[in-house]
Amino acid sequence: MQLTGIHVVLTYQCQFECGHCFIWGRGGHSGIFHPDGLAVVLDQAAALGTIKEICFEGGETFVYYPLLIAAVRSAASRRFRPAVITNGYWANSAQQARLWLERLVTAGLQRILFVAEGLGGAAEDLTAHPAVVVSQEMGLDTAIIGAGERAGGQMSGLGQAGWPQLTCGRVRRTPGDGALYPWTTFTTCPYEQLASPSHVHIDPFGDVHLCRGLIIGNIFDCPLASIAAYHAPERHPIVGPLLTDGPAGLVTRYGLQPESAYTAACQLCRHSLAQLWPRFPTRRAGQPAIGGAPCED
Ligand code: SF4
Repeated sequence: MQLTGIHVVLTYQCQFECGHCFIWGRGGHSGIFHPDGLAVVLDQAAALGTIKEICFEGGETFVYYPLLIAAVRSAASRRFRPAVITNGYWANSAQQARLWLERLVTAGLQRILFVAEGLGGAAEDLTAHPAVVVSQEMGLDTAIIGAGERAGGQMSGLGQAGWPQLTCGRVRRTPGDGALYPWTTFTTCPYEQLASPSHVHIDPFGDVHLCRGLIIGNIFDCPLASIAAYHAPERHPIVGPLLTDGPAGLVTRYGLQPESAYTAACQLCRHSLAQLWPRFPTRRAGQPAIGGAPCED
């Protein structure tokens, strides 16, 4: 595994509880990065020697604004390219947007990604949103992404009409989307490079996720360099079946109970993982995560 980017889940907290949210962000969640934990992530990322970008995401990153500024500054000081993902709730005017962005730009922020669903409706011109306009004016590499893209790490450019339908998170069916396909048709993971990912997500508890809930290690137990070096996807109880037969492979491997049809692979995947969570040890009660392989260092 040769990582070039790390998505740091700064917090699982968010002021919203969107159906599409692939990390189940919500208010009151206990997952918030401690500054000491952030330093561990950044130091381990630097030790890898291959990381170019550190992207801070949530939850909603701006709800812990002082922490976000410190995180961006720390990443920039280690010569990473700092990026942030936000729903843009903090800017109802250009003046407000400037107030929020000035300190981040000073701290070294280079790239900002707005989740489309947070900016407005699908019929609106999201490129005219004040947060987007001001970000561009301030010289930030600016993009609007859809929720499905966020989950899969695929970024779209500004001005793209519409966005992928809700495929992850709490909602397993896309409201209003009548296109349903038999579960047997979802034989590949359409988004994540599970065998050799270019990026991973690291959450406030130190868990390293390939996709939300697909944990391959914990940086507080085992250095990221070792986790990357010993990544053995075919031996992972979830990643292995996903690689060979996609989400449908999870159903057959573990004898799960799927619905007859789904709108997207991720919906079947998430429904399958929800059934699998009780079978795998979890670190924290109530956290939808599947444990990774033990440290082999
Ligand atoms: S199919 Fe599963 S592993 Fe792949 S992107 Fe969707 S939720 Fe993640």
